[in-house]
Parts: sequence; C-alpha cells; structure tokens
Amino acid sequence: MDKKLTSADYMAMEERYGAHNYHSLPVVLERGEGIYLYGVDGKRYFDFLSAYSAVNQGHCHPKIVKALTEQAQKLCLTSRAFYNDCLGPYEKFATEFFGYDKLLPMNSGAEAVETALKLARRWGYKVKGIPENEALIIVMEGNFHGRTITIVTLSNDPESYSQYGPFTPGFVRVPYDDTEAVRKVLEEKGDKVAALLMEPIQGEAGVYVPHDGFIKECYDLCHKHNCLFIADEVQTGIGRTGRLMACDYEGVHPDIVTIGKALSGGVLPISAVLANDEIMLTIKPGEHGSTFGGYPLAAKVAVAALSVIRDEHLTENAYKMGLIFREEISKIKSPFFKFVRGKGLLNAVVTEPQNGIEAWDICLKLRDAGLLAKPTHRHIIRFAPPLTINEKELREAIGIIKNVFESL
Ligand SMILES: *Cc1c(COP(=O)(O)O)cnc(C)c1O
Repeated sequence: MDKKLTSADYMAMEERYGAHNYHSLPVVLERGEGIYLYGVDGKRYFDFLSAYSAVNQGHCHPKIVKALTEQAQKLCLTSRAFYNDCLGPYEKFATEFFGYDKLLPMNSGAEAVETALKLARRWGYKVKGIPENEALIIVMEGNFHGRTITIVTLSNDPESYSQYGPFTPGFVRVPYDDTEAVRKVLEEKGDKVAALLMEPIQGEAGVYVPHDGFIKECYDLCHKHNCLFIADEVQTGIGRTGRLMACDYEGVHPDIVTIGKALSGGVLPISAVLANDEIMLTIKPGEHGSTFGGYPLAAKVAVAALSVIRDEHLTENAYKMGLIFREEISKIKSPFFKFVRGKGLLNAVVTEPQNGIEAWDICLKLRDAGLLAKPTHRHIIRFAPPLTINEKELREAIGIIKNVFESL
C-alpha cells in the first residue's frame, strides 16, 4: 500500500498529523548512500546539507551501520544504573581522540550545551569561588546552541525565543567577533564570570567566520580572568571545517567542548561534553544524567563514526575540497551571487535577492537540478556535503550550482 503514496501524499501527511515546527524544502527522501540522497520518485540528489553536518561520514556508512546492527542485536540500553561493556571503551577512545581527561555522554547537541553550562556554573562556585547563584556566562550575538528554554535565553533571534519566556538569568551577550566587547565584560565583571561560550564559526547564523585570532584572543582573555573557555563544536567539530576541531586552527584547546551531530555519522542522536578532571569532577554521582546518555548502542556507533573520520582522512579531505569549492564558486557570474565564505566543507553563499527571487527559490532550482541545500535566513545558502566527497564529484556539484546561478 505504501508503494502507491507519492511525494505529495507524504508531505500532506506531515502537514496534517505533524507539528508545524519546520519549513522543509519540498522533497521526500527514502534512501541515502554516501554523498547521495534518493527521493521516493527515484531521483538522485547530491546532499549539500549533510543533515546540518551530522552526516560527515556519508549516508549509511557501512562500518557505522555494521557497528549499529551488530550491537543492536546484543544490547541496546542498560541505563547508567548498571555498567556495560561498551561505555568505558568508548570513553577511553574518545578522550584519547580529542585529548581530554573525561567525557560526559548525552544525546542531543542542546543537552551537551546544557551540560556544559551546568559544568561551568558548578566550576565557578566550587573552584573559582563565585558566590552561589551569582555566576555569569558570556555568550555571543547570533549564536545557535539548540532549543531548550535556557539555550533560547542565549539567542537574540526572535524566532528562537519569542513567547518562550520567562528566561534563565545569568548570561551576558556580546557581539560576535568583537574582542573588545569580551574584554570589557571581563574587566567589569570578571570575578563573577564562570565561562564564555562560543561557536568557533557560527553555523546556523549563516557560516560566520570570525577574524583570524578571535578564538585565541577570547581564550587568552578567559584565562587572564580565571574563566573557562567553552567551544560549542556540535556543528564545526569532527572534521567539518578541515581540522578535527575548528578551534585547532588557532591552537586553542577549549576548557570545555561540546560535540554531537557527526559523533554518530547521522545514525543516532549522540552528543558529549569533554573536559579535564578539575572541571568534570565537580559533578558528583546523582547530580546530572540522562537515561540514554552513553548507552551501549551509542558507544559502539560513536567509536565507529570517529574511526571512519580518522581512517578515511576525512578531515584532510574536507580541507582540500573546501579550497576547491570556494575557489570555483567565487568565479560565479550572476547578479544573484555576492560571495562565498567558510572553512573546509562548511561554506555558505551569500546571495543578492532580487525580482522576488530569494535563497529559498534558488534552493528549489538547485533541487530540480539534483542538489539539495537549505537556506538560512532569506539570503544565505549553506553548502556542506559529506566529507567523503571526492574532487570529481565535487566539481560536478559545483557545475550544478554554477549553472543554476547563471541561468536565474
Ligand atoms: C545543531 C547545533 C546544536 C544543537 O544540536 P541538537 O542536536 O539539534 O540539539 C547546538 N550547537 C550547535 C553549534 C549546533 O549547530
């Protein structure tokens, strides 16, 4: 019976029975393999979103799917009420992989950020000696850290926070890419500041890349004022920007880092917080957790997903392909094209909407031409294929993007 349903039927069902909290591009997908997605009508597309960088390893990577299916038949969930034989090996692997003492496993990116905020406050009270309930955390304008009430408190995008108040106190927002603003807050209130939280590149905001040195300047200022530097690498981490972590570009090893998305290669929601003992051990048994956090299935999948990044040299490939992408895309001759920016394979084209044609309409034309990308805001299109893409495939996809822009 399913066979008879069309794309229009599936979209109508979501409209009728699902909450209307997304504005999806009209295309209905049923299969993914590597860098490609396939629609229910059989049409093949280049995936240039990669599920917001969750699918860095490519769709249904055989090694990750193997880890998933083998473990699924053995043991999926124990809860942390008991030990299991997957979590310890995963924690050992991941802490060595990223260079931290400890890992705290969660599920979604938002939960990882919440955990990082809790850890920072805890450290602020227990180690730094901030009077209880007075800790401040510095955040950046244009941020995207997820969707919980505390996290939308941090946002200055009305779509994210409007009519979800009252909000969580204890945050100070400064402009992104403005070292002096950070310095000012720290000089005025540094004794109360537990941490600064930032994305090394703002993904959801439209792939905003700060000036060279900004991450290091923030890190140094934090340390000068005895505050923690927290990097949210949920989107930028795990090879996406051409370094294992985007902070690596500036030699910064954050005090706390959040990861998610590609930690599973898009197979399960898996996130984590990494920190050293002085910070991580401020939370004691019973003081934080999640029923699914660190479940055996996730542990096995995460090890497989990180191994694929390393064994297939996907970080190095992202760096090389990113250079080609930006060089070729910047040659586009179209009044709709302004410029391209990004690092590695996290890129965005800034468009010039005109004659009623916006980024959304360009994405519809890209879809028709066989490439899926999603606008962010009305004039920005993010381009972020799986990191497994090779040069030939990349050049073919670039050809599609060029053609669409030049024939608008
Ligand atoms: C996607 C994202 C999150 C939230 O992750 P979810 O899994 O959707 O909760 C947090 N931070 C950044 C930087 C992200 O890009």
